[in-house]
Amino acid sequence: MTETISSKNSAAKFLKLDERGRRALESLAPRLQELCSVNPESVPVMEAKTSALTDSVIAELPVIKGEDLESVFSRARKVAKAWVATDIRERKRLVLAFVDTVLANRDAILDVIQWENGKSRGSAFEEVYDVVLNSRFYAKHAAKMLRSKRVPGAMPGLTHTQINYIPKGVVGIISPWNYPFNLAASDAIAAIMAGNAIVLKPDSQTPFSALVVKSLMERAGLPKDLFQVVIGAGRELGTPMIELSNYMMFTGSSATGRSIAERAGKNLIGCSAELGGKNAMIIRADAPIDRAVAGAVKACFSSSGQLCISIERLFVHRDIWDEFVPKFVAQVKKMNLDASMDWKADIGPLINDSQVEKVTEHINDAVAKGAKVLAGGRLVPEVSKRAFLPTVLEGVTPDMQVFGEETFGPLVSLYKFDTDEQALSLVNDTNYGLNSAIWSGDVKIAQSMALRVEAGTVNINDGYAAAWGSIHAPSGGFKDSGLSHRHGEEGIVKYTDVQTVATQRLMPIGAPKLLGEKVWANLLHSYLKVQQRFDL
Ligand code: NAD
Repeated sequence: MTETISSKNSAAKFLKLDERGRRALESLAPRLQELCSVNPESVPVMEAKTSALTDSVIAELPVIKGEDLESVFSRARKVAKAWVATDIRERKRLVLAFVDTVLANRDAILDVIQWENGKSRGSAFEEVYDVVLNSRFYAKHAAKMLRSKRVPGAMPGLTHTQINYIPKGVVGIISPWNYPFNLAASDAIAAIMAGNAIVLKPDSQTPFSALVVKSLMERAGLPKDLFQVVIGAGRELGTPMIELSNYMMFTGSSATGRSIAERAGKNLIGCSAELGGKNAMIIRADAPIDRAVAGAVKACFSSSGQLCISIERLFVHRDIWDEFVPKFVAQVKKMNLDASMDWKADIGPLINDSQVEKVTEHINDAVAKGAKVLAGGRLVPEVSKRAFLPTVLEGVTPDMQVFGEETFGPLVSLYKFDTDEQALSLVNDTNYGLNSAIWSGDVKIAQSMALRVEAGTVNINDGYAAAWGSIHAPSGGFKDSGLSHRHGEEGIVKYTDVQTVATQRLMPIGAPKLLGEKVWANLLHSYLKVQQRFDL
């Protein structure tokens, strides 16, 4: 943080940011309240939504009640019926038109994300990038992934067997506040390309990015009710959404995810749960140190550490500890913490007071039990009310909260290790298994270690972007970090019911009368033996 930034912090600065945010929101979603799916007959409760960047009220939005969801889903079911009949090439055209609107409005979108969430502009850009990447990927590949496939049938030559992918119908999506634009759009686009309609409930703190997604989809020509946004409390809307959806896509904490999965299981509907993590990075003794330092700083503090795949545990080999740690700490101390909408800030303020409390609690508890703060450790109120310095801890032990609990903030703990075996055992010593990273000069060793890391994604010589950005590959969590996947073929097939159609020709399957059961069984037996013998 520099002096100029502290002195820039004033009411006038926030007023300017508000003006800029308001202009951006008006240009992207001029009919803001009409974009919220509310039953016109019910008198909606209006709720004021504030900016995490400036704390001012952005707008009042109508909050939906559980009983209003039936009409929302009934509209969704209607539009889903028409949408499933829409040729996939037309779906592709419309999704690519949506990409055009996103690319054309990049700066205004970044302003809205920053205004409502507070994150740095670079982190906000990751959201826009992700939406374009996902949308283009599924627009381009959905037809191939969901094309009916011919497979060998029960009786070669006599059974024609085909696999079909039938859209689920209406997909309910519940998303968190930390990536409000891409978690509103990217999962929805995959489901839309598969032929479904969407009802999205964004986190109550960040509804505006979701409404911008809806507005841009309509601008691109996608049908009006194909993507509906409902604003309301998760506790109130969660159960009716699960009752009314044909599939649930949830992103958020492991505790809520577990409860969503239970309720989805009770209704026997599919559910995807992308949950929390306590992600680890291993820096081996042969790691390229300067690259690893830069990679670790980005992986720990992107989006102020409020990123599900960000690194909270850093394991450094004893032989390079004395070189790596001072370099890492120096880079962290140089990070530019600011509440702004320019590209200069490396890290923005936290979203809300409870995030500040959680980070503070983890630091205080660790320090009280003997940990040492190597960098950061406090708020910088001159920058903004919730501007928290990127923080590095050393000497963390298992009795400290930060050892095993997800902080979900700008806080990383450093640990020393001696062998790969020891590093792997420490990395896997958690109930979570979302993301991980290994830095090494020997890629082969790192790749073989990766097979033993209990995490859905392992980045080698990167922190998170390499795996996340590999859109052809699935992304999801092991253990308490989730169920199912997004990205890749898995990320779209899950939004379909997989159906097998087998057409039997010429003769039914069973013993022909002329042969009798015994001869028929002997024939089948010989057939199986030939297959086994020649490995057919
Ligand atoms: P949260 O679980 O409290 O909230 C997430 C969403 O669930 C919000 O929309 C909220 O309104 C809704 N919700 C809350 N209670 C509900 C209930 N009983 N029924 C239905 N919906 C309910 O999560 P959070 O703390 O706001 O978000 C941060 C968490 O999300 C972190 O643990 C983070 O790691 C995780 N996350 C995971 C991913 C991923 O892809 N794995 C991505 C982003 C965030």
